[in-house]
Amino acid sequence: MLAAHFRTRFSTLFLWIAAGSALLAGPADYQAPGGGSIQLQAEEGNRVKVTSDYWRLEFDLRNGGALDTIVFPHGSGRNLVRKPFETAVDRWSDRNAPSVEMKSSNQGNVLRLEFSGRMGAAGRQPGPVAFRTTWILSPFMARADHTLVFSEDVMASSVDIGTTAVRGDLNEFGLRTGPTDDPDRRKMAPARFGKVEGEGDEFIAEHHAPLYMLFFHRNLEGFDLTTASDLETWETALAGRGGAGLYRAAAAGDTIQIVRRPVDAPRPVRIRKGEYTFGYYLGLPRIVEKSDRKWKHLSFGNHPWPSDAEIARWAEAGVNIVRLHNDYAADENFWHDGAWPPYDEQGMAEMRRVIATCHKHNIKVVPYFSIHEFHPKAQGYSEHEAEWKRSNDQLGTVYHNHVGKGEFGAQMCPQSGWLDRRKSDIEKAYRDLGFDGIYYDWVMQLACNNPKHNARLHNGADGVIDLLAWTRRLIGDRGTLILHLYGMMPSIAFENFADLVVNMEEISGAEKWMRMGEAPIVTVLAESIPRSPCPSYRQDHARERNQNNISQLVLLGMFPWSGGTGGPVYEETLKLFRAFKPYKLEEYRFRDAYSGAVETGWEDVYGALYSKSGHALVVLSNTSSNARKNIVWRVKPEMLGFEAGRVAVRDASTGKEQTLATSALADGSMVTDLAGYEYRIYEVRPRP
Ligand SMILES: [Zn+2]
Repeated sequence: MLAAHFRTRFSTLFLWIAAGSALLAGPADYQAPGGGSIQLQAEEGNRVKVTSDYWRLEFDLRNGGALDTIVFPHGSGRNLVRKPFETAVDRWSDRNAPSVEMKSSNQGNVLRLEFSGRMGAAGRQPGPVAFRTTWILSPFMARADHTLVFSEDVMASSVDIGTTAVRGDLNEFGLRTGPTDDPDRRKMAPARFGKVEGEGDEFIAEHHAPLYMLFFHRNLEGFDLTTASDLETWETALAGRGGAGLYRAAAAGDTIQIVRRPVDAPRPVRIRKGEYTFGYYLGLPRIVEKSDRKWKHLSFGNHPWPSDAEIARWAEAGVNIVRLHNDYAADENFWHDGAWPPYDEQGMAEMRRVIATCHKHNIKVVPYFSIHEFHPKAQGYSEHEAEWKRSNDQLGTVYHNHVGKGEFGAQMCPQSGWLDRRKSDIEKAYRDLGFDGIYYDWVMQLACNNPKHNARLHNGADGVIDLLAWTRRLIGDRGTLILHLYGMMPSIAFENFADLVVNMEEISGAEKWMRMGEAPIVTVLAESIPRSPCPSYRQDHARERNQNNISQLVLLGMFPWSGGTGGPVYEETLKLFRAFKPYKLEEYRFRDAYSGAVETGWEDVYGALYSKSGHALVVLSNTSSNARKNIVWRVKPEMLGFEAGRVAVRDASTGKEQTLATSALADGSMVTDLAGYEYRIYEVRPRP
């Protein structure tokens, strides 16, 4: 009976797809060009597959439409999910639904799937709760909304939303607690990261909904879960009070169990008749075979504005994108966030000169904008502060981000009228000044309960996603979006919208010197969006610290930025850019220092490999301050990207070239000397 019932529903579904409905519910517009395609396939066996250029998701129509497969073809190619995502009220579960109806629609590259039915107990006995699960999927984004429909009051002691288990090798995690557990007065406590310690390790155990959880196999694949803006529903809607939930992750056997349970009560609680919607973003990194590793990026401001000669020097070194980052100066001559025009007449003329000179040299220019900050000196601030501010306490305290004797601005909430104001600021600057894209700072979700715009507990995630999709529409296929993710408040869901991610600011002020292997998980992530780490900002040993950093980053395929008008950090950065300028790195497949592609005889000397048909680059780098002589290095010939009996090996720094049997790359006959922090590129190509 069940099967027959299914079939009927299923054929209805296909008509729906064929009709290609343009219906797309919800207020936010998630259209965003430039991320590739998204495809819906429904197959025999009642499975629905959705494929982007980066991942494949599969939903099981026999079992409530539950998500049971996440595969990254350019990661391991193996399913991450060990136990399907399950939404349940006590013994009634969407996976036991007697039947499920699916609707789908698409618009542009945004696909909407809706699975609905009645939760069932074992044996598919229908219970008192219905469900409607909506997935909004685009190449940039996956959002789930689980609506539970109680047609009468129900006594229940547990409610699960997308509880699952994933592969045990996703053994690094991140957690940002929700605002109730956040000890920071401004509700900005950093994320916590760690590695699973082994069987039975319960590494996340919270009673309040976290803002964010991440599970990752370093350098390979993984995902994050970001609670959508409506925190109130997660926190209190069902149990009538906060802290009645369980958010837990633990190692069990060869899996990681992930429990998301807004109700986990020792005694049943009364859930009132009504509909409740729990939203979250599933952050699926855009994992590719070849990262678009083309960006060489600097920043500049107006103290002084860069000269035309300096800009010519940028171009000569291979710089291809710069950002106008001018969010504070002690003399108050800076771009106050939200102000227009940002400078006086002379300043505006200088800015236009810099933009035009950059364009002459084929360098793109993008302006800095903070998603959250509004400077009190900008127009409209005093009229809107009370309405738009992000606040968390009874007093409605405004959070000013002080610096020096002034401030960057005060924190606004993207779930308020601030979002539209921000869009109009950005659009005006983008169009009036001929920028080539946008740079965003403060790309994060922060908690708020300002009753002037929303008295329910919320966070800014939906507004941030809305802004990012809107920005991609603004800049189109040709514009470049740079997102700065603070490493202690990272987000795959947000950074997915970027062409280039600026990261590692959390360690840029650290006194401790950066060491290989200590990079935070979100810094390295996987072969996906290219990354431009922040340099060390410290003044003590500035050159050496950045030489140290670059000697490591060059092995991880990352090109840090620096300020663009002089100093030792700038010189070291240009030197790195110059070394790689001859190569279109986006055409190469990259294997980093941990891939095993290149091995050396010294423990602090590492190698990485770029390869494509007919050409490879071996990068050797000494991450120690001590010179190393007689470094024996070996390359796995099968990773070169081509087959040849003989190869030409050219030292790119000296120009010296030798022709060898290919076996010489692997037999230990390649030897190099490197000074402290020195890196060197060897070009390898086949010879007849
Ligand atoms: Zn708010």
